Amino acid sequence: MDIVVEQLTKTYGAQKAVDDISFKVKTGEVLGFLGPNGAGKTTTMKAITTFLIPTKGNIWVGKHSVLQEPEKVKKLIGYLPENNPLYHDLPLIDYLKFVARIQGIEKEKIKERILEMIRVCGLEGEKHKKIGELSKGYQQRTGLAQALIHDPAVLILDEPTSGLDPNQIVEIRELIKRIGKEKTVILSSHILAEVEATCDRIMIINKGKIVADGSAVELRKQAQGKEIIKTTIENGKTDEIFTALQEIGSVETVDFIERGKNIFEVQSKPEHTSRRDIFKLCVEKGWTLTELSPIETKLEDVFRHLTLK
Ligand code: ATP
Repeated sequence: MDIVVEQLTKTYGAQKAVDDISFKVKTGEVLGFLGPNGAGKTTTMKAITTFLIPTKGNIWVGKHSVLQEPEKVKKLIGYLPENNPLYHDLPLIDYLKFVARIQGIEKEKIKERILEMIRVCGLEGEKHKKIGELSKGYQQRTGLAQALIHDPAVLILDEPTSGLDPNQIVEIRELIKRIGKEKTVILSSHILAEVEATCDRIMIINKGKIVADGSAVELRKQAQGKEIIKTTIENGKTDEIFTALQEIGSVETVDFIERGKNIFEVQSKPEHTSRRDIFKLCVEKGWTLTELSPIETKLEDVFRHLTLK
């Protein structure tokens, strides 16, 4: 089921938490929201789930608008809110039963769905405990179970792995990936590696605006623009190599990564690659080329570049 966000704006007093953003998410797509604190991620997610009414704009979930048919939209969405609010005094099974009834699951099917969720979310060993007695990770799984219980077409997950240990993070990521094949998923996270590992598409939000949208590879490419190479050249004088690299026609700048070991950073001119020229230079001079590898822009650098403005 597609989600279409049209010119969404949400203001709190004079502040624009979300400022005229539009985007579309398709079935089978896992979209990751990245952004610094206060960027507008939660606000956007809340507007999609109908918990917030937009100040301007509209959102469509399938053919239903959050403005005209919020009840229908709610039924299509599973939502794991930030901080995962749960009833700590309820036993886990009773809680899932309660959510199943609220979601309007037929009485005869409730037991089956609860068992399915316990299996899918890995809660077997914990199912007889009260929610307050569960560790944070298992509470997070309970939050996911409640979001999934009515088998929604759309999943909105606000920081789904916050507070989990590294093993649980991997398991929950795998779970989200599996679920994401059939559903439309939007998740937010502060962990760049997580978004890169889980999401097909990344959207970076800053000050209520979309500042980047694409796959991790696309975002890196956009940010990089020019080829940057790390190269190690042996059996030659450092300064001589440095100067010769600078004189290559396709090279824009040369820097040292480690002077003592003859490791250089070479940036090519826009639209150029200097790998062949570096190789040829070494052959001509009789130097030994022991490393020639592209330096990829890290997603972290892309993020910092786009959100520190
Ligand atoms: P975080 O990563 O810290 O969770 P976020 O990207 O989810 O941040 P939002 O929670 O969407 O950010 O907040 C966006 C802006 O809107 C913030 O400046 C926040 O203070 C403001 N805001 C959010 N909710 C309210 C509210 N109920 N009343 C007033 N301002 C609010």
